[in-house]
Amino acid sequence: MKGFAMLGINKVGWIEKDKPNYGPYDALVRPLAISPCTSDIHTVFEGAIGDRNDMILGHEAVGEVVEVGSEVKDFKPGDRVVVPAITPDWRSIEVQKGFHQHSNGMLAGWKFSNFKDGVFGEFFHVNDADMNLAHLPEDISLESAVMLCDMMTTGFHGAELADIEMGSSVVVIGIGPVGLMAVAGSQLRGAGRIMAVGSRPVCVQVAKEYGATDIINYKDGDIVDQVMKLTNGQGVDRVIMAGGGVETLAQAVKMVKPGGVISNVNYHGSGENLPIPRAEWGCGMAHKTIRGGLCPGGRVRMEMLIDLIRYNRVDPGKLVTHVFHGFDNVEKALMLMKDKPKDLIKPVVIID
Ligand code: NDP
Ligand code: ZN
Repeated sequence: MKGFAMLGINKVGWIEKDKPNYGPYDALVRPLAISPCTSDIHTVFEGAIGDRNDMILGHEAVGEVVEVGSEVKDFKPGDRVVVPAITPDWRSIEVQKGFHQHSNGMLAGWKFSNFKDGVFGEFFHVNDADMNLAHLPEDISLESAVMLCDMMTTGFHGAELADIEMGSSVVVIGIGPVGLMAVAGSQLRGAGRIMAVGSRPVCVQVAKEYGATDIINYKDGDIVDQVMKLTNGQGVDRVIMAGGGVETLAQAVKMVKPGGVISNVNYHGSGENLPIPRAEWGCGMAHKTIRGGLCPGGRVRMEMLIDLIRYNRVDPGKLVTHVFHGFDNVEKALMLMKDKPKDLIKPVVIID
């Protein structure tokens, strides 16, 4: 089979591989719609998780089940499924501790395009199909459904980790697709004022539609100054980091109130350390909480997010600005994600 792969740091290309094998609890799936992620860009072009050779990229897909192992109960060939980016080993100690994302090691629930071939192949392997796949309802489009795998679960996790309360004031740093879902998630959790930081006009427009009350352009000056000005020097209750470099942590610490929470879902692909400014962190005594997390995956998470679409709580289809038809366009879509043209939020490739 053919797949679009990371050949090494800074190198991508098409490769041929054998169809993956699968075990008794697993499934073999073929993609129906796929989307590249900014994380693929960090992985390939920043070498953020180290070198990978001939590893098929991609971790966002909806697909059709092709074959299943003998112990799989709820899925059969022909079923259309949502495939989460995070497919944990559910029989692991970390799951009992409540952190399936880190099953069998830090970030190890993230398997596609990290520890094994991803979804940009003609076929891909899904471990523990009954626990990791979700049925795709007929009434949800492929474009919307592929936003569930990673964008929706990650952005919403930003809002969850930030512990947004009714009326919380929130800054979302970065309004690419992840940050936009963090805006939507904050709105759903009852945030009051939501300040969204970004510059691409298309993202700004969608941020407003998802509930942003104020837009801050980081190119217009220090975002801390801008937030302080908007809040009469008070700062905010919650900050969600979904874009920018390591310096955004220092900005988040400066703009959050004592007792506030900062949540990070940004993948910091480079830099040795993340800076915490001593004085604004109350010399260590400000009760400012910093959390960061990999998005939740697995079947139940996908099913719960599916309901948010079905019952019109959120429309992730607004994120999809570019739709291509044909597997060969994966390369073009990935490069768009690297170059981030002004009219882009997220590209999707439909495999007809
Ligand atoms: P995008 O690159 O599309 O969006 C980044 C956003 O950050 C844009 O709005 C951009 O503004 C803004 N930005 C850039 N520089 C700055 C700055 N200096 N200060 C403030 N804002 C800035 O990324 P995605 O939304 O696709 O992904 C966001 C991050 O989430 C990535 O690092 C990705 O790898 C990570 N991720 C993490 C996951 C997890 O499980 N935790 C899962 C999936 C993704 P502009 O409008 O100018 O472009
Ligand atoms: Zn991703």
